[in-house]
Amino acid sequence: MYPRLLIDPAKVRENAAEVVRRAGKLGIGVFGVTKGFCADPVVARAMVEGGCSLLMDSRVKNLRRLREAGFTEPLMLLRIPMLSELEELVEVADGTVVSMPETVLALEKAASTAGKTLDVMVMADVGDLREGLWPDEMEAMGRTLASCKRIRCMGVGTNIGCFGGVLPTPQNMALLVECRDRLASGLGRPVELVSGGATSSIELVDNAQMPREVNNLRVGEAILLGFNTGRMQAIPGLHRDAFVLEAEVVEVRVKPSKPIGLIGADAFGKVPVFEDRGRRLRAIAAVGKQDAKIDGLTPLDPGITVLGASSDHLTLDVEDCTTPPVLGGFVRFTLDYGAMLALTTSSYVEKICV
Ligand SMILES: *Cc1c(COP(=O)(O)O)cnc(C)c1O
Repeated sequence: MYPRLLIDPAKVRENAAEVVRRAGKLGIGVFGVTKGFCADPVVARAMVEGGCSLLMDSRVKNLRRLREAGFTEPLMLLRIPMLSELEELVEVADGTVVSMPETVLALEKAASTAGKTLDVMVMADVGDLREGLWPDEMEAMGRTLASCKRIRCMGVGTNIGCFGGVLPTPQNMALLVECRDRLASGLGRPVELVSGGATSSIELVDNAQMPREVNNLRVGEAILLGFNTGRMQAIPGLHRDAFVLEAEVVEVRVKPSKPIGLIGADAFGKVPVFEDRGRRLRAIAAVGKQDAKIDGLTPLDPGITVLGASSDHLTLDVEDCTTPPVLGGFVRFTLDYGAMLALTTSSYVEKICV
């Protein structure tokens, strides 16, 4: 069945091992983040084999998928939990990130009812303005946690780059360390884990700029795609093609490069603009916006350019191909994070581990 996503778990494992090795030199452990591929157990297993000691996902449903696939490693929720999912969270996971004291108290109750204990990572906002406490709220959170019997504070973490595009710096990492100290003083005992972010923070590791108090990262994109979206840069030493989209060609024909007729909006309400490059060889691949984020697809053949897409048709300029695609043939693409996320979520895309 096409389109299909070819996944190479060996490349994921090698990427994980390389990230773990580089971080490990600075005493930094790596948690594997599985939300980018709906926690497919084969890919998640490759992360564990590469050295990720704990897996994190933003969806309880994905954590359940891992649990049911037989994972015995600790599993944690990576999104601050909904009050409505605490019961299921306690059933499935070993821990979660948190940012609201009310949620911690509700979690304590749910854990107590279930007779379980849970670890929490307290999220600090050091400037990206997504989830997290301000530094001056940390001490009170520490006191709240000190009052809990079922909830253990495993550490403090921050998320940067995801919402506000904030880049990691020694300064915002130092603020995170300050948050750890304030949390510890409210808690009345030391806080061990300091989680300095995600893929974007690897550059501080590679540049030897990471403060030595930071001892953990939560990594998805680098391991899966070898890319740092925050810098729009490939990360040296990592595979870029562990995930490849393969789509089937359903039309090949020479057409003008500029549409003919009066121009209104396209199927998605945008008025398209096309440069007139004369008549050129085009191909249509049977994949579209319902399956993927189109601007996140990069053709493996440098002679192919993506012209655009509707829900189900991907239009390609193939004039410059040395071997142009033929009807019934295939075109292949590497992916960005958004495209990987959409493709792994789509039930119209077959996932094949190679
Ligand atoms: C998604 C996410 C990560 C992993 O991000 P990558 O850029 O894929 O490494 C880490 N932490 C949190 C809180 C996240 O939501």
